[in-house]
Amino acid sequence: MQAVRQIQPIFVGEAKSLDFLNSIIRPSTGVIDCMETGQDVLQWFVLSGLATQEEIKALARDTDRLETSVQDIRRFREAFRAFIAEVSQDPTVVSGHGMIDEINRILSSATQVLQIEAGAKVAARPYQLGYQLQLRGPEDLLPRIAQACAQLICEADLRFVKNCEAEDCSLYFLDVSKSHRRRWCSMDLCGNRAKAAAYRKSKQRP
Ligand SMILES: [Zn+2]
Repeated sequence: MQAVRQIQPIFVGEAKSLDFLNSIIRPSTGVIDCMETGQDVLQWFVLSGLATQEEIKALARDTDRLETSVQDIRRFREAFRAFIAEVSQDPTVVSGHGMIDEINRILSSATQVLQIEAGAKVAARPYQLGYQLQLRGPEDLLPRIAQACAQLICEADLRFVKNCEAEDCSLYFLDVSKSHRRRWCSMDLCGNRAKAAAYRKSKQRP
């Protein structure tokens, strides 16, 4: 009997690239990968907003190429995780880092087309003109992720990329709070747990 998978992807990263890293969760109880199968990956793309239900329909049928893409995506995820681990300690390592070449290589394999798309919600100008990476086959999934990673590198203040402070939590997030004092992936997942543990500890003191 196939086990029912109860873990849903978590979106607490404030950046799609960090949520991409968070698609694998390593609590003390074991590893939970929300990108284990082709179906998982396609579901993650829709939930993260990196693809629409309409776009992934045809991709789901192309099982062999999808499987190859899943392997590439998972490999890239761990390479990007190692990069983020370095960058979150020292943002200056971005300059000349091999990850820049890797992302540029992935992006160069993608096709982008000019499209009219829904823009800012301004009544007088509801549309805007923008470039969109095409999703014509499973191999186009990786460039979409790489684009989100490139956006983080180019647009975010990397000093505020943080790893959740809970000991057994692997989740990353971009601290976009005004005070830049965010410590937890989320209060529900780790913040309250840590506070309760600290409270228990304080009670134990003589
Ligand atoms: Zn956490």
